[in-house]
Amino acid sequence: MANLLDGKAIAKKIQSELKERVQSLEPKAGRPPGLAVLMVGDNPASAVYVRNKQRACERVGIASFGEHFPAETGPEELAGAIRALNEDDRVDGILLQLPLPDHLDAVKLLYEIDPDKDVDGLHPANMGRLVRGESGLRSCTPAGVMRLLREYEIEVEGKDAVVVGASILVGKPMALMLLEAESTVSVAHIKTRDLAKLTREAEILVVAAGYPKLIRGDMVKPGAVVVDVGINRIMDYEGRSQIVGDVDFKAVEPQVDYISPVPGGVGPMTVAMLLKNTVESYQKRVFGEG
Ligand code: NAD
Repeated sequence: MANLLDGKAIAKKIQSELKERVQSLEPKAGRPPGLAVLMVGDNPASAVYVRNKQRACERVGIASFGEHFPAETGPEELAGAIRALNEDDRVDGILLQLPLPDHLDAVKLLYEIDPDKDVDGLHPANMGRLVRGESGLRSCTPAGVMRLLREYEIEVEGKDAVVVGASILVGKPMALMLLEAESTVSVAHIKTRDLAKLTREAEILVVAAGYPKLIRGDMVKPGAVVVDVGINRIMDYEGRSQIVGDVDFKAVEPQVDYISPVPGGVGPMTVAMLLKNTVESYQKRVFGEG
């Protein structure tokens, strides 16, 4: 039986640490930390994520400055809202919930966010800092994976790591963070010719492709550490909707040493890292420290 990488439990621990930190800082700061989550349109999955983030903020004492824009909102209006939040001293973090409706260019809008308030770590300045190994706000999902590995004292240095997926949101920053931690990293994507050959070599396998059961039982190295980032909504045999990852959990779990479940693995860690980034940005902005 593999050990479960219990993101839910670790995220809970991080949230209570953050709550204590906020309780001790707030009287000196004269205000709580603030996070603004901008959502455009009515993507039901995004609505759930935004609600979860707001609830998590409440739990640790972060004030929410959420704004919900109709699907037809134009880029200028949205850019204006971001600029106003950049200037708002009550706001320490700004997050633009992705995906955006097709007529909006996410990359262009991400440039509008003040890099010091970019708690999602997606601004090119923060991505550049990651590439250069400089400190800065790190993107939440890969940072959550790294923290999960650290909490379970899983050695990364010198290990052969494979990341499946090469998106700006997950795969690329994931590969860079593993590289920063001195593992030997390979990145697979949709054009990779022999995925199984690559994944079978992985001592640490992180999967973020958005494809249910992409990783089968015969695609992993015995004793590996498998982190499943995927979140896919599928219908089971009885027509009930179910959330699954990218890894065939039943088939892979008996072969590996560690595996993260979906749900309850990386998802809660992503939210915990968002809160951590917000509190750190607050601390830096109010007290000039990280
Ligand atoms: P994306 O669609 O932007 O990128 C997917 C990447 O996977 C691409 O690089 C693509 O080339 C690669 N890929 C797709 N199918 C593949 C295949 N068959 N073989 C090899 N590579 C393949 O998606 P994303 O935003 O990076 O998200 C990936 C998954 O992670 C999704 O399921 C998403 O819902 C999930 N996700 C989870 C969290 C979390 O907090 N747990 C956060 C963000 C994204």
